[in-house]
Amino acid sequence: MNDCLFCKIVAKEIPAEIVYETGRALAFRDINPQAPTHVLVVPKEHHADAAALAQADDGLADDVLKAAHAVAVQEGVADGGYRVVFNTGPGAGQTVFHVHAHLLGGRPLTWPPG
Ligand code: 5GP
Repeated sequence: MNDCLFCKIVAKEIPAEIVYETGRALAFRDINPQAPTHVLVVPKEHHADAAALAQADDGLADDVLKAAHAVAVQEGVADGGYRVVFNTGPGAGQTVFHVHAHLLGGRPLTWPPG
């Protein structure tokens, strides 16, 4: 997608602090972190949201979830508890329409979220 911000990060046309990369997924720190660890995990292939990702072929959603867990381990937040969130649609607060998992950890996380 020509004008997709996260496609440009995947293509390394826009800088980001990349913390993890596989053949099909990329993880980079959120520019406006909401927790000590706040990493966005995206499929390299463009899908607009989690609903589209769920319908993608070949286990792409699985790859994204596995990458999120790998980042949690790498960041040292796996044991203390972490959260993986897909804001899906404007009503849920999605603002960038290239699907991304927010990986949040490193502080107590309350429920329900706002
Ligand atoms: P959403 O609101 O779509 O669930 O989440 C989008 C996230 O992308 C936000 O947490 C926002 O801070 C982050 N973000 C927006 N622009 C950039 C950017 O240029 N670089 C990085 N690393 N994160 C961004």
